[in-house]
Amino acid sequence: MKRVASGLLPAQAHLMVAFLAHQGIVANVVGEHASMSRAGLFPAGLFADLWVLADADVDRAQALLVDYERRAHDEETDPRGEWRCAGCGETHEGVFESCWHCGAERRLPEGP
Ligand SMILES: [Zn+2]
Repeated sequence: MKRVASGLLPAQAHLMVAFLAHQGIVANVVGEHASMSRAGLFPAGLFADLWVLADADVDRAQALLVDYERRAHDEETDPRGEWRCAGCGETHEGVFESCWHCGAERRLPEGP
């Protein structure tokens, strides 16, 4: 296990876990339920760390996360919004191009 990111919002960390899982990398969110004593000023659960299970995946995970951050940033300027998988109904953030749950490709909603 190796930490690849820290100081994340828990929701953000979970999205990254789903993103990495889609790339075949097993990651975990750590520290989400840490006690207040660790961060002091901040309530428990405000920040989380992202750990990758296999050391061999760490380099690839870090490269993917850089790409993820860049795409997430692009989202802010050109929001594509959430989309729902046609295969299983799972809802995804706009940064995902295919379903992490069933693997189906993203399909744009049918126009009028
Ligand atoms: Zn799906």
